[in-house]
Amino acid sequence: MAIKDNLLKITSGLPPSVTLVAVTKTHPIEKIEELYRAGHNVFGENKVQELVEKYEQLPKDIQWHLIGHLQTNKVKFIAPFVHLIHSVDSLKLLQEINKQAQKNNRVIDCLLQVYIAKEETKFGFDFSEIKQLLTSDNISEFANIRIRGLMGMASNTNNTQQISTEFKSLADFYHTYQALTKTNLKFEILSMGMSSDYEIAIQNGSTMIRVGSLIFGNRT
Ligand SMILES: *Cc1c(COP(=O)(O)O)cnc(C)c1O
Repeated sequence: MAIKDNLLKITSGLPPSVTLVAVTKTHPIEKIEELYRAGHNVFGENKVQELVEKYEQLPKDIQWHLIGHLQTNKVKFIAPFVHLIHSVDSLKLLQEINKQAQKNNRVIDCLLQVYIAKEETKFGFDFSEIKQLLTSDNISEFANIRIRGLMGMASNTNNTQQISTEFKSLADFYHTYQALTKTNLKFEILSMGMSSDYEIAIQNGSTMIRVGSLIFGNRT
């Protein structure tokens, strides 16, 4: 099936409140162009270098999302154009994003990545760290960032009950802190769900899914 049809199959079943980020990592420009011509313009990459290369070669009305771990020394490369950073996992990174956004005269939208999986390898804050960050004064000092929500990845398991429990824990936390708003803090985006678990994520309140292999096939 054409990748365009794969995309349509997913988007046609989505509630209007859910945005699909098509994850293009490892896939060539031509495939992205095919989806772009079909009307899709929200794409995600997990590596800075690949994100920059693709940004440079593709139409400029594409919204590029960074979804993977971001090193502070690489923020400067994406700051001029990135639409949303899903993977903010430290205060240090937030500071650097703010600094680079300022240099580019921009306000950069960010999500805080929360660690919800049982695995040891995933990046992110835990709930108590996020709570501390959200209620501290630090955030208000960052005039060039907006914290728009949270991102989380469930465990890589076939146990759908566990996946559901993990997503629900993030959604509950998200809804609790939705009431807390500051000039540059307002929860409007809950990024959770990938190819294998996006339906479970939506059942638990996801508003943004990040789907790669289900659209493009397996990565090379
Ligand atoms: C690769 C990746 C995805 C998409 O994964 P698929 O299983 O291919 O849909 C989603 N989120 C992050 C952070 C990723 O790195």
